Amino acid sequence: MSAVAAPARVQPPTLETIASGIAANVGVARARTRARIMAVVKADGYGHGAVAVAHAAVAAGAAWLGTTSMTDALQLRRAGITVPILTWLHADGMDGSAAAAERIDVAVGSVEALEALLAHRARGLRVHLHLDTGMAREGCAEPAWAELLLRAQRAQAGGRLRVTGLMGHLAKADRAEPAANAAAVQRMRRARLELLEAGLGDPITHLAATAAALSDPATHFDMVRFGAGLVGIDPSGTTALHGASRLTAPIVHSALVAADTPVGYGGSTVTRTATHLSVVPLGYADGIPRTLHAAASVEVRGLRCPIVGRVSMDQIVIDTGGERMPLGTLATVFGPDDPAPSIHEWADWAGTIPHTVVTGIGPRVRRTTA
Ligand SMILES: *Cc1c(COP(=O)(O)O)cnc(C)c1O
Repeated sequence: MSAVAAPARVQPPTLETIASGIAANVGVARARTRARIMAVVKADGYGHGAVAVAHAAVAAGAAWLGTTSMTDALQLRRAGITVPILTWLHADGMDGSAAAAERIDVAVGSVEALEALLAHRARGLRVHLHLDTGMAREGCAEPAWAELLLRAQRAQAGGRLRVTGLMGHLAKADRAEPAANAAAVQRMRRARLELLEAGLGDPITHLAATAAALSDPATHFDMVRFGAGLVGIDPSGTTALHGASRLTAPIVHSALVAADTPVGYGGSTVTRTATHLSVVPLGYADGIPRTLHAAASVEVRGLRCPIVGRVSMDQIVIDTGGERMPLGTLATVFGPDDPAPSIHEWADWAGTIPHTVVTGIGPRVRRTTA
């Protein structure tokens, strides 16, 4: 029998979702508003796992969940989540039967979308009328609004559906100036009266997403839709939230190089002194931005180690200085605790917003929840 050396135990690249961070962020939102909180878990919970984020948010007091497709909404139901769910955008089509059967509320922003939903002949549909309040995106634009109201009124009178919500979305909430949202707030107030006049009652009215939830109470109405804030991102820049994720990977190679050694493709960086270079197996295919500021770094053993040379598809090279790093030494790419870089620093280094940092982490990175 030939002896085979046991492989070094390494923890593979892992994105950890920190439930206590999500819960703390829901707590921050709850302290800012009397309105109900919808936890928006689109894009797989902003890359953190929709079911994990939903469980944490609901446990912390979120009353509703929001998704952008029926498939995502059904995934939450299959995970045993029973709170009300609203889905909008409908990339996978309008399944009225599934919506009715699973009690999933559906946002409708056009007469065409309403007709598509009613075409399923399901009863007991729950519909949020989505009004364009200045985005020119999926909400119903002003000229078609009266017709949409009329059709919804008829369908409700015929017992086909119930209008359970009125929805808008703010284009400028990240400015954190109430004046920027004022026209949209006025439009929502009028729409609410129009629904009352049309005999559609006073359904749950919601306009604000994270930025306005944290910075402009006039936008809160009955519910705020809190997505980015769950995972520690405040687009209004007014509130320090809690980090909810940690991306780690093992060092898989570490070696001493001399001064003046070109590193990586094109040799774009040259070492100034003799140093140890170490390899972290995460690259642009895993969501590490390829264009990065020179300050970009990861944390190893409590120290920031700069990324040197180009980002490759599967790996980055970091300068670990005076020491050779044993195989499996953990590098923290981002995390909630100093001195690990935050997702906000990564966004600055890449010239982007933290949303794209967290939603860009690729599928071969293992997911865990803490
Ligand atoms: C994404 C989205 C939200 C959540 O926005 P955040 O800024 O991430 O909180 C709310 N409403 C709609 C319509 C959205 O598309």
